[in-house]
Amino acid sequence: MPQHSPRELPEGDPFGADTLPYGVFSTAGEPGRRRIGVRYGAHVLDAAAAAAAHGSAYAPLLDAPTLNPLMAAGRDVWRAVRAEIRGWLDGPHFHALDDVTLHLPFEVADYVDFYASEHHATNVGRIFRPDGDALTPNWKHLPIGYHGRAGTVVVSGTDVVRPSGQRKAPADAAPSFGPSLRLDIEAEIGFVVGTPAQAPVPLEDFREHVFGVCLLNDWSARDIQAWEYVPLGPFLGKSFATSVSAWITPLDAFDEARTAPPERTHPLLPYLDDAKAEPGGIDLRIEVRINGEVVSRPPFSAMYWTAAQQLAHMTVNGATLRTGDLYASGTVSGPEPDQLGCLLELTKGKGPWLADGDEVTLTAWAPGPDGTRIGLGEVTGRILPAR
Ligand code: CA
Repeated sequence: MPQHSPRELPEGDPFGADTLPYGVFSTAGEPGRRRIGVRYGAHVLDAAAAAAAHGSAYAPLLDAPTLNPLMAAGRDVWRAVRAEIRGWLDGPHFHALDDVTLHLPFEVADYVDFYASEHHATNVGRIFRPDGDALTPNWKHLPIGYHGRAGTVVVSGTDVVRPSGQRKAPADAAPSFGPSLRLDIEAEIGFVVGTPAQAPVPLEDFREHVFGVCLLNDWSARDIQAWEYVPLGPFLGKSFATSVSAWITPLDAFDEARTAPPERTHPLLPYLDDAKAEPGGIDLRIEVRINGEVVSRPPFSAMYWTAAQQLAHMTVNGATLRTGDLYASGTVSGPEPDQLGCLLELTKGKGPWLADGDEVTLTAWAPGPDGTRIGLGEVTGRILPAR
């Protein structure tokens, strides 16, 4: 089996020694043996093999078919493992990225989707409720979210079958059933919970519980959504598929990219008040490509609600957290017309929408130390015709 040592990365590679995201892979030689890999440039470090060769105490956590045992081990272990891995990068335990199969890297427990971009919420409110206020009265007081479907979270590269369902436009006399005619994307950032919690998680404990960050595409059938969403929110218009990166990037990789969120226009209740907290935003720059063409560059730094506020809010009622819980930011949209994170906004609700065969790819990077870039693993998916 060919093994490579990628000591020299190309200049500016966003998957250098300050990034080191975790994934789960298998090789053609051992297709049934999933284990943890760490991306370094265009290569994958076999973390299990390297840990065994170095006699690491963490070898059992790395020779696992999902990231969940490592994620559950807590922040002290996350930091220790990451430090050890930095010492393994000049060794022989690498595969070329193109030679491995990547799998869903963690077992998803619960999935929550938020709605944290003021620009997105305002734009969508104007389209869905043209006669009402764009923002609902609660929007500036709490991070709005809903519980999604964990079982249909899929890894990047998985095809997405066009969903069917009930659609009814306002002018239609009756609902009809069939393949969605308004299939859309939502460019989002996902946060993956490592350490469980039995009590509300205050803002300052965010880093103790969130293991890492990934790109996420919350595929959305707008015609199904528009007919079903009142009064309980999204259901079948969202639950058919949610795509995540094959790589989960540790939260600590974004220390240089922390940034203050937009100015708060309404006073916040104490459990959400982050005026004195560390900057809760992350300066992630996302690119959305459809069939290879860049259609948008949403800035994550423009999000009104932070991931720490979302975690505090989703646990404040006593709801517990489990290892593998995934929560998504909500569609990332900025103030400019080329910074919108879905076709609903980019086309002002008129389309065109996704066609069968279209391939959507999200990429992102953030500033790292000393002018480097911290990359997020891409998330890509192709639309297949309805069954
Ligand atoms: Ca969403």
